[in-house]
Amino acid sequence: MLAARLPESLGVFARLAYDFACFWRPDGRRLFAEIDSHTWKTCGHNPVRLLAETPGSQLVRAAENSELVERAEALERRLEEEHARPFAYDGSLTPRNPVAFLCAEFGIYQSLPVYSGGLGVLAGDLLKEASDSGLPMVGVGLYYRQGYFHQRIDRTGLQHEYWIDTPPHLVPLALVTDDWGIARTIRVPVRGEEVVLQIWRAKVGRTSLYLLDADRPENSLLGRWTTARLYESDREVRLAQYALLGIGGVRLMRELGIDPAVIHINEGHGSLAAFELAREEVEKGRLTPRAALAAVRERLVFTTHTPVPAGNETYSAEELWRVLPDLPEGVGLEREELLDLGRIHKGDHGEPLGLSVLALRTSRSANGVSRLHGEVARGMWQELWPERDPAEVPISHVTNGVHLPTWMAPPMRRVLDEYLGENWIHRADDPDTWIPVDKIPDEELWNARQAMRAQAVRFIRERSMTDALERGEDLARIEVRGGGMLSPEALTIGFARRLATYKRMHLLTSDPGRYSNFMLGDDPVQIVVSGKAHPLDDEGKRLLTGAAARLENADAIRHRTAFVEDYDLAVATRLVAGCDVWLNLPRPPLEASGTSGMKSMLNGGLNLSVLDGWWAEAFDGSNGWGIPADPAPSEAERDSRDAYRLFDLIENEVLPLFFDRDSSGVPRGWIQLVKASLRTNGPRFCAKRMLDDYARQVYPPND
Ligand SMILES: *Cc1c(COP(=O)(O)O)cnc(C)c1O
Repeated sequence: MLAARLPESLGVFARLAYDFACFWRPDGRRLFAEIDSHTWKTCGHNPVRLLAETPGSQLVRAAENSELVERAEALERRLEEEHARPFAYDGSLTPRNPVAFLCAEFGIYQSLPVYSGGLGVLAGDLLKEASDSGLPMVGVGLYYRQGYFHQRIDRTGLQHEYWIDTPPHLVPLALVTDDWGIARTIRVPVRGEEVVLQIWRAKVGRTSLYLLDADRPENSLLGRWTTARLYESDREVRLAQYALLGIGGVRLMRELGIDPAVIHINEGHGSLAAFELAREEVEKGRLTPRAALAAVRERLVFTTHTPVPAGNETYSAEELWRVLPDLPEGVGLEREELLDLGRIHKGDHGEPLGLSVLALRTSRSANGVSRLHGEVARGMWQELWPERDPAEVPISHVTNGVHLPTWMAPPMRRVLDEYLGENWIHRADDPDTWIPVDKIPDEELWNARQAMRAQAVRFIRERSMTDALERGEDLARIEVRGGGMLSPEALTIGFARRLATYKRMHLLTSDPGRYSNFMLGDDPVQIVVSGKAHPLDDEGKRLLTGAAARLENADAIRHRTAFVEDYDLAVATRLVAGCDVWLNLPRPPLEASGTSGMKSMLNGGLNLSVLDGWWAEAFDGSNGWGIPADPAPSEAERDSRDAYRLFDLIENEVLPLFFDRDSSGVPRGWIQLVKASLRTNGPRFCAKRMLDDYARQVYPPND
């Protein structure tokens, strides 16, 4: 339909627009940008909107550009060839019997805003890697018309939240219909209403992502609201969302004729799927509820991402029966029996149902997302296996990884394409692939780094000027942001992540004297910060306000700091490519994995991080900098000790190394470190290695 509205020769663009694989390649993105670079930017890299909103004259010009059209047709052929390759993982997984990956959020690309942060981006990276590597998988989630919140910071540093409506027909999604063009739907009863859900399909290369959407005329306003916003703050609406994801997710697959060999519950949100699968077995009349749950268990695997008990959501019996009154009867269980499946202590009537506990009790396999997190999770859930020592608790780990084609910026990719050999990207998880990194001439790597930093500085200047204008700052201050703000040559330190208290952004400014000292030293340094505090996290918001003010606490520093509002995939892409040093200061062991540091590493950034999450297994003493995670008498003492170590590292190691240049201006020692970081960590923290771990260790059925 989109093609029918375009000049004929642009039909190929309408087809490419709906394949996300087109957008994890620089040549695909460039094709769309060339149609109208201004609209491409203003519509947030959304190809459907680009084709709908580009002025007619511009479209005609593109249609007459035969070279552009030919390149698009060549890309379409190439993608078709790639999608037609045989699936590489044998065994019980096939396109009819794939892994079904259930997750509350998916971060595929900036044009599909149904993610909030790390969890969703990881889910997106896994689907993309499944497509690249040929593992049969489908993603199952929800379509949130208003997505996650957007952030605005006012003149006093206070965070405000707002939501933008994104109608699904304006994003690269196709409604799943029958032969007559009528939407196929499923129903899930919540709060006494049979909520009707339509299904959107995102084509993620040869992987499909199906998103359930309650915005149907048959539903009440409240029913329709259920899928309006990601992580809606009302607890009952959220529980209803999880019911749609878990129960609806299974019904969706039945409707589409997909019989998953494995259902991968990614974080506890989707864990109600176990009850729906059991209900199906019981309904067939062959199994008792107990036997049904045992059968279901053989198909469920669970990944936990949350190392704090409070982060694992629980619901009281009252809440559960208000939202899902018929749940026990469907499965053939007594209410208390059902609740016990989600309780740490069976029979404790006061204990609520925990979604993670439910997933742990109903899955055949469970894993954390880094080696350290596996250990933390075993300790945290040990009570579920009271007869076992913590080390014997059956929770393993698969360390996260990031999708290399998505996260490696073009300048870096060009250098590695030249030195790592043909198709190196398909062998990115092999350490041997990365050995030639040492042969790259220092100048070439440095030039790529310089180019990426300069691009990021341009982006940040423009964004912070726009942000400042919109919040009504003094024009004099705004002009600083436009011209003198940030230098393409300065050592650029990045800190971008969810601004939860445990991420400790405040460490940066906890010693104002020392902070000013290095910020105002002879060697130019600049700091770029970005991140959102959860709307209900008052403590996080307060810290944000304070830190934002202190970061630019003197006029002399203001032009060397930037806070980029509204952290999202677009911002993350720029910052992980442009920053020289990536900071992560979690309060251990609260960083389950962390993935932004991996993205920075792939772009030749160096990590300076607390030895928590992925960095605890990545840091070898010679590929970045680590702040030890040893215990402290109190959190306050830990904070001041870690701040001290942070400043020591920046002053004594980072700055001298970065500014130690030879006669041609290249920091040889720095580049050596960048090479060590790429060589040691490139193969270990790419999504290919992660997917392979799942395919070998988690997905195969138990013998
Ligand atoms: C990678 C990413 C994250 C997760 O990064 P952490 O290191 O886990 O904080 C969050 N948000 C976005 C947009 C990302 O791209």
